[in-house]
Amino acid sequence: MSATPILPGPMAGGRMATLGVLGGGQLGRMFVHAAQALGYQTAVLDPDPVSPAGRASDVHIATAYDDEQGLAQLMQRCEAITTEFENVPAGALATLAAQRPVAPGAQTVAIAQDRIAERAHFAACAPLAGVGPAPYAVITEAVDLARVPDTLLPGILKTARLGYDGKGQVPVDDRAALVSAWERLGRVPCVLEQRLALRDELSVILARAADGTTVHFEPQRNVHRRGILAVTEACPDAVPAALAQRAVEATRIVAEQLQYVGVLCVEYFVIDDGSADGRLVVNEMAPRPHNSGHYTIDACDVSQFELQVRTLTGLPLPAPRQHSAAIMLNLLGDLWWRDGQPCTPDWTGVLALPGVHLHLYGKLDARPGRKMGHLTVTAPTAAQAQTTARAAAQRLGIAPWR
Ligand code: ATP
Ligand code: MG
Repeated sequence: MSATPILPGPMAGGRMATLGVLGGGQLGRMFVHAAQALGYQTAVLDPDPVSPAGRASDVHIATAYDDEQGLAQLMQRCEAITTEFENVPAGALATLAAQRPVAPGAQTVAIAQDRIAERAHFAACAPLAGVGPAPYAVITEAVDLARVPDTLLPGILKTARLGYDGKGQVPVDDRAALVSAWERLGRVPCVLEQRLALRDELSVILARAADGTTVHFEPQRNVHRRGILAVTEACPDAVPAALAQRAVEATRIVAEQLQYVGVLCVEYFVIDDGSADGRLVVNEMAPRPHNSGHYTIDACDVSQFELQVRTLTGLPLPAPRQHSAAIMLNLLGDLWWRDGQPCTPDWTGVLALPGVHLHLYGKLDARPGRKMGHLTVTAPTAAQAQTTARAAAQRLGIAPWR
């Protein structure tokens, strides 16, 4: 990263400072919105001609992520480049980094995109962080299956690469199920993780600058359904204070040990250990803004996407301040279907509620399980946010949560 910040607006020579992003999904779209609000132009590289970020960006380069011409065009257009998802070829980031500032770096993305490397990093950080991953074993060849200790079953077999929203994961109860699950996943490298009785889930979003400065949002509580994030609660008391502090400390260590630059999200499980708050277990990290931080757009004075822009350009990183209690509901494609027939969600009813912020990502095809948008409820108190969020969920047909 360069020591001189990349400032927004017109530059000497008559062109606009431009920021690039690899990936055209909703995270890229919200990065584009934040960058444009600050006065940057944007360029998105994504093969999909109608991607959510591509539609919003000043420039859309519609090539494969490893297309040499596409990457060359991105480098030529942009002052600095980031990524919106971890499954971009790490080689593409390395190519770009040879000529332009890139954050996060190819090496950290390579770790985050491989559960085996990611678990090894968490295990290495555990003595410092005081938090380790769930017990797990690495499966790369058939003999590893027999070596798995009994204590890991029942477990969850997870592919090392390309998993998201619960995809590439199979719950396995016994050894026979483990063997057939690995066959079904195509004998690819996997981790087998002990299935834990979860008391709760939370995540921490942190931004780290090239000079090592870090700022963070307070940990938020997450509710998953069928492996997909359904609800995030970012309200006072959603997470016990001592647990929150431990999670922030652990996240800072995970980032520092990677010499990370950018926005990083680390997800945690909370399990019972006899103590009042329970014990933290680190689940996974995302080298980018995260779905559980979307509420920061509407409830904080600086959003996770603006922090992504600031870490990329070397602008100052003030500590974020949350000004409203917030609850975020994910809007999955299922909401556009009733009894097998297409339908339109009750937007009028939902938008009549106070403090509702609707974000749809510009996706046309409302497939079940597909993240189409999200809705953030902001309110002066946690109780009011809960009441409104539950009313919104009911109007949309989203099941209640604890
Ligand atoms: P993401 O979309 O967050 O990248 P992912 O597909 O990578 O998701 P994970 O975060 O590994 O998946 O798991 C998704 C959810 O499945 C978790 O948030 C949790 O609810 C449940 N889960 C995963 N691993 C375990 C485990 N070892 N024990 C119990 N529940 C688990
Ligand atoms: Mg996850």
